[in-house]
Amino acid sequence: MKKKKKVIIIGAGLAGMSAGSYLQMNGFQTEIFEAYSMSGGLCASWKRKDFNVDGCIHFMEGTSPNEVFYPFWNNIIDMKSIDFVYFDSHSVVDDKEGTRIHFYSDIDKLEQEFLTKAPEDKKQIRKFIGLVRKLNKMKLPLDKPFEVMTITDKLKVAYTMFPYLLTMRKYLNITNHEFAGHLKSPALRYAIETAFVGQMPLFYSLMPLVWRNKKDTGYPKGGAALISSMMEKSYTELGGQVHFKSKVNKIITDGKAAKGIELDNGDIHHCDIVINAADGRTAIYELLEGKYKDKHIIERYESNTFKTINKTLYIAIGLNRDFSEVPRKIYFHINKPINVDKLTTMEHLEVTHYCDDPASAPAGKSLLALMPEAKDWEYWYNMRQNDKKKYRVEKKRIADEVIEALEYKFGNIKNNVEMIDVATPATYIRYTNNWTGGQISWLANKETFGKPTTWKIKGLDNFYMTGQWAGTSGGLVNVVMMGNHLTQIICKDEGVRFTDKIQKK
Ligand SMILES: Cc1cc2nc3c(=O)[nH]c(=O)nc-3n(C[C@H](O)[C@H](O)[C@H](O)COP(=O)(O)OP(=O)(O)OC[C@H]3O[C@@H](n4cnc5c(N)ncnc54)[C@H](O)[C@@H]3O)c2cc1C
Repeated sequence: MKKKKKVIIIGAGLAGMSAGSYLQMNGFQTEIFEAYSMSGGLCASWKRKDFNVDGCIHFMEGTSPNEVFYPFWNNIIDMKSIDFVYFDSHSVVDDKEGTRIHFYSDIDKLEQEFLTKAPEDKKQIRKFIGLVRKLNKMKLPLDKPFEVMTITDKLKVAYTMFPYLLTMRKYLNITNHEFAGHLKSPALRYAIETAFVGQMPLFYSLMPLVWRNKKDTGYPKGGAALISSMMEKSYTELGGQVHFKSKVNKIITDGKAAKGIELDNGDIHHCDIVINAADGRTAIYELLEGKYKDKHIIERYESNTFKTINKTLYIAIGLNRDFSEVPRKIYFHINKPINVDKLTTMEHLEVTHYCDDPASAPAGKSLLALMPEAKDWEYWYNMRQNDKKKYRVEKKRIADEVIEALEYKFGNIKNNVEMIDVATPATYIRYTNNWTGGQISWLANKETFGKPTTWKIKGLDNFYMTGQWAGTSGGLVNVVMMGNHLTQIICKDEGVRFTDKIQKK
């Protein structure tokens, strides 16, 4: 490239920092404008009393050097320097009758567990485990995005994926709920219904089992704070610059191409390329005033094909007690349902503890996190806008009822609570401006499977999109990979040979 092209990126979440890092490696001059005072976006943690609340990472994918996702991380941050925890059992589910089912990471142990607890479902179990074993051999061809593939690349993809196509098609058409309905054992049925998202295709629930079995998913000690700070450090060392407290209010265009951005303080910054790595709906309908839409944008934001994922509360509890004897993640039935909002009543709880991470709490104390569903996000959003007192009262009511339920299940809780922190969809909207305040963007379902990533909008040049709203779903590794893929696309458009290596100065 003769003259370095200037690129402005909106949002310093992992998507923005990944795109910025890969573009810096390829000779572009990038700057990120971030509304908040810190980087990381949803990959955030916060300090409350003695505890560091990891408000994001339960599991991080792409941790095995032998697997396809790893390089997307490792080209930016030194993955070997991170101490990952791999859990023998990803989670356990306790049903009403007291039967406990372990979701072991090792596939052979998982099979044995299911067969022991639900022998009447032997046929279904063998089929289910057989699928995981089959998918275990699959190497997803992810090194290039479809948009830059040659005919030879596409043929290679077809060849690699051919043995799995029928399986994928079949299990994209069966939801977890439907699969659970075929099980005779009430305990196994309850475990699948509880630990897997009901309306999601079974195929999407099989893949995490594959990644766990391959040790390609773990928990990084230091959590969200560590990962976000490593991403920011790497980006700035590559020559990128992050402007904090710099909310973008407008994308400037000349009607045909993006030319720059305007901040909420009125400052204008010109550039050659604008990338939106923040909320997609805001970019389309506010920053671009709804003037640029193609059929893919309309399908996402103005039809029923794409649905946002169910929203949750995020309840963090700091205990003056060691909780490490309890499984790391446990789902259990509660006798007294808890009303969250008019669309949601909790009949089970899901508790994760962070005892394996010394950064989460002082020795002898424990950090717990719960993510109960809160489907009516507008209720939480409007209540915080219009009646802050009621909002605080409601958050406390739910936290108190949750603590009662924990007391009933585990004992010795109430007297040891030192910290309670409740985030709602309104919290996530406030800090990250993500539409509907969910954990991720779209619900992955069979209707959205294979839909193209909205990297560009037809009719607007020099404008690109990345991150969880541009793809069909979110997740850390996904948005980090998108930074690499988007850079390949921009390099192709600009006639630059792509590299994913850090250039020596
Ligand atoms: C509770 C919770 C648990 C999760 N658990 C996991 C997990 O265990 N594993 C996993 O892989 N993923 C998990 N995720 C999902 C994952 O965190 C997200 O999918 C991912 O971080 C999205 O990254 P992003 O960069 O696309 O978006 P974001 O993180 O939302 O980043 C967008 C950035 O843009 C900024 N911004 C917004 N509007 C503007 C504007 N107008 N001007 C300037 N800046 C702006 C925001 O402040 C934000 O920093 C979890 C998420 C949550 C909330």
